[in-house]
This record gives sequence, structure tokens and C-alpha cells, in this order.
Amino acid sequence: MQLSIFARLIISYLMLFSMLAGVSLYFIYHLSRFNQITRSIILNDTSIIEYSNQLSDILLSESRSDRKFVVLKDEALYENYLQMKNEFNQLLNKAFAKTTSDEIKNYLNTIGVQHQNFSRLVNAERELIQSSKPYSSDWYAEKKKTVASDIIEQLKLIRRTNEKDVFAKIINLSESSDRARNVSILISVFALSTGLIVAFIITRSIKKPLDVMKAKTVDISQGNFKGDLEVSSPPVIAELASAINTMCHRLQEVDDMKSEFFSHMSHELRTPLASIKEGTTMLLEGLGGEISEKQQRILSIVIQESNRLIELVNSLLDLSKIEAGMMNYHFTSTDLSALVKKSLDALAPLAEAKNLSISNNIGILLPVKVDHERMLQVFRNIIGNAIKFTPENGSIKLEANVMGSIVDYRSIIGDDKDFDSDNGKRKREAKAGGSFVEVEVHDTGIGIPEEDLARIFVKFQQVIPAKGEKIKGTGLGLATVKQIIQDHGGNVWATSRVGKGSTFYITLPLAA
Ligand code: ADP
Repeated sequence: MQLSIFARLIISYLMLFSMLAGVSLYFIYHLSRFNQITRSIILNDTSIIEYSNQLSDILLSESRSDRKFVVLKDEALYENYLQMKNEFNQLLNKAFAKTTSDEIKNYLNTIGVQHQNFSRLVNAERELIQSSKPYSSDWYAEKKKTVASDIIEQLKLIRRTNEKDVFAKIINLSESSDRARNVSILISVFALSTGLIVAFIITRSIKKPLDVMKAKTVDISQGNFKGDLEVSSPPVIAELASAINTMCHRLQEVDDMKSEFFSHMSHELRTPLASIKEGTTMLLEGLGGEISEKQQRILSIVIQESNRLIELVNSLLDLSKIEAGMMNYHFTSTDLSALVKKSLDALAPLAEAKNLSISNNIGILLPVKVDHERMLQVFRNIIGNAIKFTPENGSIKLEANVMGSIVDYRSIIGDDKDFDSDNGKRKREAKAGGSFVEVEVHDTGIGIPEEDLARIFVKFQQVIPAKGEKIKGTGLGLATVKQIIQDHGGNVWATSRVGKGSTFYITLPLAA
């Protein structure tokens, strides 16, 4: 099942949210447990201490009232004693209800029994006093003292046990808080890393098809409409990819129609143009009778413009033939340096006219399999452009290297770093195995803005000249060069700095 982008995002958010909710719930549970334990310490354990202190005090008052009664034999003092006794019993019951410790309950039971013993002794002595019989008051006093100090001893034990309990609870609390902290850290780390991994996977599943489409749009911008995009997910992007495919088919159809049209038109134009040129030349040579100087000038202009038109028509015909896959190449093993030299010889007069210095550093090279005529066309074009776009007294330098891997350098670069040939090489990444020859043509010409570097290889695309300058050429040369080089299994690209110069790179696979 293919999930939409929205569903993917919702799923990743839900996962993150539920993990965070889990951590929070775990925390809340432990916090409430700590709260319970702390409350029990405050409410139960501290009140047991309070009760045992009060019980000690009441017991002391109780025995004090009893002793006064024995001495003064005043019933009001006995009443006082009874009141204390009741208070003692009530407090004892309260303490019993509060405590959760079995040990303390045992002590409280013992205290209850001892307190009853104390009451029995008090009552027995009272009866003896009321009957006015002689008895040993010292014996009773001693007995009651022993029972009271036993009770005090038990109360002390209660306090000690209680302290021990509180201490154990605090240790327990601290241990479980440590445990809770560790578990929370673990859960948080797990939740965070799972969340990040899920987010990464989902983002990648969205980004990957977008990258494919981005590469395709770069291809389209360079006039390559072939090859369908195959993106099946997420659905919204798949729909977009299918729309791009449809657009490419339509563009390809239009491009084919255009090539066919140019090819037809070029055929139809070539013959009449050749006739016009021929006729005009004959008129200029005086074959039609004597002509005036003014007529000579006009006829020269007609010949010049006919030549330009013939050149344009020829270029158009070449390009549409190559694009239609109808160009017949005759590949032979060749040393490129010979072809470069031949092209340079043909262009030398143009360079001399502008006083350009040309240094050809290309020595004998390993052979490449090329079509001579087409390769001469390539070099004539690239070197011709270098001459055309370099102002007077500039220089042009040619170099070649044999390298380890076929270059696939799509992104054209033009900043300072990349301008020099060393950095240029560094930037180029080898894509496939195999060796190749690289030819570099450097010039000190007007340069090409970075944003135009890719565009100039598309037909009819030229850099807009500065105000007042005329557009030189047809804008078909580099598009033809690119097609020819690609048909040879190579590549072509440029780096440049405006006002400083440009470098054109051509790579071709070695014949072996
Ligand atoms: P053109 O017939 O116009 O030279 P090309 O396809 O050969 O057509 O070149 C396209 C454009 O690229 C040129 O119009 C020019 O703006 C630019 N260009 C090509 N080579 C150079 C160079 N060596 N220096 C500066 N600009 C160049």
C-alpha cells in the first residue's frame, strides 16, 4: 500500500507523540508513587512518634495523680487519675489504627497489657486504702514503678522501630527514584532515536523521488526529454512524475517536429541560397556586364550575407541530422593532437588578425576512436569561439591529459576556485571505470556568467552581449559539439570567470 505524504508525516508525528506520552506516563506513575510514600512517612510515621511521646507524658501524669491520691487519699485525685487513664487508652487505640508496622503493633499490644496491670495495681491499692486495712504501700509503689518503666521502655522501642522504618522507606524511595531515572533516560533515548530513524526514513522516502525529479528537470532544461521517470511512491509525487513524463513526451514530439521542420527548410533553402551566391559572384566578376563601384559594394554585401545564411542553414542541417540520429559517423583510431593542429591551422588567420597568442601544449596522445570530420568541427567550434570571444592581444592555451576514469561532470562550475584547471579537475568526479583523453581550451576572453554555463550547450542559446555589442554567431555551435561528443561516448563542459576567461573541457574514451 502506498502512503500519501500526509499519512507518512502523520504516522511519524504519532509515533513520536506516543513515545513521548509513554515516557510522560511512566514519569507520572513514579511521581505519584513517591508522593504516596512521602505522605505515608509524614502522616503515619511522624504521628507514631508524636503518639509515643504523648503516651509517655500521659503515663507520667497518670502515675503522678495516683501517687498524690495514695498520699492525700482525696477522691478528686483518683478521678484525675481515671481521666488520664482514659486518655492513655484512647491514644493507644489511635496509635494502633495509624501504624502499618506489625512490630509496632506488637509493642502497642504489650503496652496495653502492661497498662491494664498498672490499673489493676492502682485499683487494688485503692480498695486497701478504702478498707483502712494496713498494707505495704512501698511494695505497691515499687510494683507500679516497674510496670511504668516497662511501658516507657516499650514506647522507646516503638520510637526506635519507627525510625528504622522511616530510614528503610527513604532508602527505598531513593533506590526507586534512581531506577525510575535510569528507565526514563533509557526510554527517552530509545524514543528519540526511534523517532529520528523513523523521521529519517520517511523524509528519505519523500526526498529521494524529489531528487530524481530534480535531476530530470535539469535534464529537461538542457533539452534532454528522453527517458521516463519511474516514481511509484508517495502517490502525490508519483502523479507529479507521471505529469512530468507526459510533459516530456509532448516536448519531445514538439522537438522532433521542429527538427523535421528545420531539416526540410534547410534542404529547401540550401539550393536557392547557393544559386543566389553563385549568381551574385558572377555579377561581381563582371560576367553580366560592367558594374559600378556602388553596385560592387552592394553585391559584396549580398555575397557576405548569403555566406552567413548558408553557414546557418548548414549548421541547422547538421544539428537536426545528429538529433534525428541520422548522422553517419566513420570512426577511426586517431591521435587527437593531429586534429587539434589541423583546426588551429585553419583558424590561425583569425587569431593573427586579433593578435592573439596561441600556445598548443598538446603532444602526441594515445589514440581515440573518432569521426575525423565531426571532431574537426568540434575543435573548430570550441577554438573558434575562444578566438571570437577573446579581445585583441589575449591568449589561448591548449592542453591535454590522459586520465583514469570517464568523466561525468554535469554541474557546471564557475567560481574562482574552479577556474584554475587543477581545481577544475578536482571537482570532476569519476563515474565509470576506463581511461580517457581530456582536452582543455583556455582563453582570456570575456567569460560567461555562471548561470549561463549550462545553457550555452542548448541550441540557439547565447549569452546576452553587453549593450552596443552585436550578437556573434548562430547559437548552434556548442549544441552541435555536445551532440557529437556524446555520440562519441564523451563529455563537454565549461568553467568560466566573467572578464577573466573561460575553459572548455572535452573528454573522449581511449580507443583501447
Ligand atoms: P555561437 O555561434 O553564438 O558562438 P555557440 O553555441 O558556439 O554559438 O556558443 C553559444 C554562446 O556561448 C555564444 O554565443 C557565447 O555567448 C558563449 N560562448 C561560447 N564560447 C565562449 C567563449 N570561449 N567565451 C565566452 N563566451 C563563449
